[in-house]
Amino acid sequence: MYDNENIFAKILRNQIPCDIVYEDEHSLFFNDIHPQAKIHVLGIPKDPCIDFSDFIINYDENKISNFFKSIDLVITKLKIRDKGYRLITNSGINGGQEVPHFHIHILAGEK
Ligand code: AMP
Repeated sequence: MYDNENIFAKILRNQIPCDIVYEDEHSLFFNDIHPQAKIHVLGIPKDPCIDFSDFIINYDENKISNFFKSIDLVITKLKIRDKGYRLITNSGINGGQEVPHFHIHILAGEK
């Protein structure tokens, strides 16, 4: 069951501020508060979804496609395509997921 009180849900409701990198009607991208690389951006769909599988199974193809295309748009905006980047998503206890709202980490700017 989705926890409406998780920190990213609060960010989406503007109850907690974030440092926005990109936003559209489907998704929000913001800088990670504890960056693990020179560039560390988190991308989240605006719909309530717990993790990758929840998003892929329970949302329509249009939303899934829009979200993944918005990741690529942010990659362009950050100018990290040429030198490269890592995309990571953690799921559940074994995946080390801390925030139970599906998110993609975009890490770049250094090896
Ligand atoms: P994960 O372990 O995959 O769930 O990652 C959660 C990420 O959210 C961590 O990298 C945190 O540093 C980051 N984080 C937690 N709270 C905030 C916040 N208020 N603003 C930005 N990033 C956050």
